[in-house]
Amino acid sequence: MGKRAIVFNPGPAMLPRPVLERVQSEMLDFAGTGMSLMEMSHRSKQFEGVLNDAVSRIKRLLRLDERYHVLFLQGGASLQFAMVPMNLAQDGKLAAYVDTGSWASKAAKEARLLGKDVMLAATSSDRNYTYIPKNIPINPDASYLHITTNNTIRGTQWHFFPESGDIPLVSDMSSDIFSRVFDPVPFGLMYAGAQKNAGPAGVTIVIVREDMLERTPEHVPTMLKYSTFTETHSLYNTPPCFAIYVVGLVMQWLEENIGGLENMEDLNRRKANLIYDYLDEQNFYHNPVEADSRSWMNVVFRLPTPELEQDCIQEANQAGLVGLKGHRSVGGCRASLYNAVDVKAVETLVDFMRDFARKRS
Ligand SMILES: *Cc1c(COP(=O)(O)O)cnc(C)c1O
Repeated sequence: MGKRAIVFNPGPAMLPRPVLERVQSEMLDFAGTGMSLMEMSHRSKQFEGVLNDAVSRIKRLLRLDERYHVLFLQGGASLQFAMVPMNLAQDGKLAAYVDTGSWASKAAKEARLLGKDVMLAATSSDRNYTYIPKNIPINPDASYLHITTNNTIRGTQWHFFPESGDIPLVSDMSSDIFSRVFDPVPFGLMYAGAQKNAGPAGVTIVIVREDMLERTPEHVPTMLKYSTFTETHSLYNTPPCFAIYVVGLVMQWLEENIGGLENMEDLNRRKANLIYDYLDEQNFYHNPVEADSRSWMNVVFRLPTPELEQDCIQEANQAGLVGLKGHRSVGGCRASLYNAVDVKAVETLVDFMRDFARKRS
């Protein structure tokens, strides 16, 4: 087998090695069935076990109380941009959004397309999305307040959530779910495409609180109603079985290898400190994000010229450090430090960056 690269991809992204090895070992014969999990009925007792195990692990890891349903849907986080307003925006009320750039803007756009009365509660567009707005005004006439907890493209992250009182928070957590401990109680709904921090592409984790389900208007199509999936435990139609299985293994890895989200958070803090401390001590690389809004998951940085950025990405690639190119909409470089990227990988990256700066500055 060839040498494994260190994967800093923004998504699909690195998966824990023990998870990949387990998948490999079970590929031809899952649990003594003589079949791959991909060849099995989604209504078999084996798959039911896989699904229930993934749900229980997610509930334990996030400390969700019995009011929350954990669902596995398709269509990516991008479909949630539409399902959220379809199901949760109430007649005569506002749909409130915080615009922290890119994905957050797209979420608000879908609500507008659906004819909802969208209110921008706050935006960081005035300083090119380099910070997370503070003191978000809470409108009592809002159905919900939507935030994007980690901004994958801009490299910003909420390190405290708005105090929204009776207004439920709805959040796109695609790129930082399971990266740290947080209190789920203010959230009416949380969603995340699995391919950043929870598994392979093809499944979206949706966590919805029971009281949110009453809001859905009758005319919403069956496949777009959350209640369709709460009532059938994500088995209304064929779910993405293989992706759910791998998500379950990643959750098992978090519980058994890492020891839960407190430990994961400590590791993620150490990783982020390693790279931001280095970025702050020199002036060849530049991180544009305001200090209190820096993402632990996606670290964006610029070099003095686009040519140097290209060289840096290419040399890193040759050294086995892949995926450092910034999003095509903003350019520059970006290192995504999701859960599966370990402390040693970040040390290797910082050593590489130090070396490159010494040679080229
Ligand atoms: C990647 C990403 C998305 C888009 O996810 P898809 O699953 O491709 O639809 C949405 N929001 C955030 C924060 C993301 O990082």
